[in-house]
Amino acid sequence: MIDKWLKKLELTDWTITLESLNNEQVVCDCPPEDCYFIGVKYDLDNKHAIIYHDRDLTEEDIVHELLHVKNPFWSEDQVNIETEKLLK
Ligand SMILES: [Zn+2]
Repeated sequence: MIDKWLKKLELTDWTITLESLNNEQVVCDCPPEDCYFIGVKYDLDNKHAIIYHDRDLTEEDIVHELLHVKNPFWSEDQVNIETEKLLK
């Protein structure tokens, strides 16, 4: 699934690593089902991105995080709008 989006977003020269976190590493007050963490850390020079997640990733999560990689200066809102558009 990631490969498909790397092609669509023209990010095929990037290396993407998925790293799962265990739940205890994420602390918050909300109910467990609403409490999760997904984030991306990327290195523009080496074209390497690590997506951290503590629940199973959905296609939407992947598109969202890859858009952050492709557009490092976009706001969270811009990324959310574009993610919705791409998944339609
Ligand atoms: Zn985001």
